[in-house]
Amino acid sequence: MQRTTMIYVRISSDREGRRLGVERQEEACRALAAMLGWKVVRVYEDNDRSATREKDPPNYTAMIRACERGEANAIIVAKVDRLHRQLWKFAPFMKWRKQRGIAFATTEGDNTETSDGRFILNIKASMAEAEAERISERTRAAVRQRALKGEFHGGSLPFGIDGDRERVHDELRYVSFWHHTTDAPRVKDAVRRVLAGESVYGIAKDFGMQRRTLKRALTNPAIAGLREYNGEHHPTPWKPIVEVDDWQRVVEILSDPERGTKEFNQRKYMLSGLVHCRCGHRMTCGSSVRTEGLTYECGKDKGGCGGTRIVMKPLEDYIAEQVFLVLDTPEVRQAIAAQESGDDPTAELRKAISDDERALQRLEDEYDDDKLPEARYRRRRARLTDRLEANTKARDAALLARKRTNVPSGTKLRAVWNDRDNTWKRDMLTAVIDRIEIGPQPINPETGRLFTSAPPRRRGETEEAWRTRFDLHRAKVFSQRVTVTWLV
Ligand SMILES: [Zn+2]
Repeated sequence: MQRTTMIYVRISSDREGRRLGVERQEEACRALAAMLGWKVVRVYEDNDRSATREKDPPNYTAMIRACERGEANAIIVAKVDRLHRQLWKFAPFMKWRKQRGIAFATTEGDNTETSDGRFILNIKASMAEAEAERISERTRAAVRQRALKGEFHGGSLPFGIDGDRERVHDELRYVSFWHHTTDAPRVKDAVRRVLAGESVYGIAKDFGMQRRTLKRALTNPAIAGLREYNGEHHPTPWKPIVEVDDWQRVVEILSDPERGTKEFNQRKYMLSGLVHCRCGHRMTCGSSVRTEGLTYECGKDKGGCGGTRIVMKPLEDYIAEQVFLVLDTPEVRQAIAAQESGDDPTAELRKAISDDERALQRLEDEYDDDKLPEARYRRRRARLTDRLEANTKARDAALLARKRTNVPSGTKLRAVWNDRDNTWKRDMLTAVIDRIEIGPQPINPETGRLFTSAPPRRRGETEEAWRTRFDLHRAKVFSQRVTVTWLV
């Protein structure tokens, strides 16, 4: 067989290595190649100091890749120890070259092409293998011991945990641990909120964190004071931030494959997306918490007119009340009963959505593993989320058409309303409401001035009496400000 060969030389920092200069290595290797009749393709050269101890030197790796691409079918080095700094690495190398039919020779007489040469090399390789086993046993034993003793295994600290490092046996190691002053409370808060049904996406947004970072932190046993080793849990050297039971429930919730879809639709506010300003802009939750709580605002920073604001909770109550009343009118009951349910037009959309969600997850994983440049990640993510949003909208519209046949009577709805979450409530609302428009604060015809948002309390008036008057006043104002476009 005609052999084409790579030559590999390495300058090592030890004295003998320096003596056996790189030129002499190359010269000897070329002479050997000529004697064997192998055609030299390329010479690869590495410097010992150019790589860490664990990693293979860069040009060694490049040579291996070139051989795998078929650019040569032999490798020549001066001595076996030129190939690898650690003897044990020689065994996997020999396996690799045998599988691919790559010849190997050294200027000391090792040669896989002769039976004597193969014999000697096999002995060297099995010695290397024995060394490898000893090393990995030692490493495994050390890791196991650390796990059993509840020591930190090294690397970066988990989210929520802080610590102090000290130099131990030539390396910096964490020796004491405590709860991180800002991250640990976040972990606690997030666990509580996930258990209460909130989406990781929403919580992460509140914290100014990436969803995947938070999800990873919450599913890490470290927050429950546990470390997984060989399928078993061992205690960590730090105190748990949350209860083990709570952590396990969070893991179950977050690994639910259905959750992806649910999360995407999870609504924080009952009326978001439905409430519009009279200027045509959609109103969103106000950034300022007023004395009366949250508001829907036509925010200037979000492209709105900035002129409209309405308190959230009273508006929600007002709308719900309208819905109960409307649903109990005979015309609406008839109209709902008349609508038929057909085949499921959402099946295809749902598949497209779950496919895209999985693609998004893969993309994030790739990005996490540093396999993707930032710009490309952002581009692809934007494309996926755009499509996801469009498909989700289309699916919601299709679902809506089916849902209307299942809307309960107003009386029934009123009875269960307060026990339901915002997503459910919103589903009901969007089944009957197309749009809610908020007008300006109306003018009081008696005074010719703007209605105040709250009537002043009269002298000697009881709290209860004032509240009743307040509610009436607000209902009057809302009836002028709020226009509901019904679907039924
Ligand atoms: Zn507006």
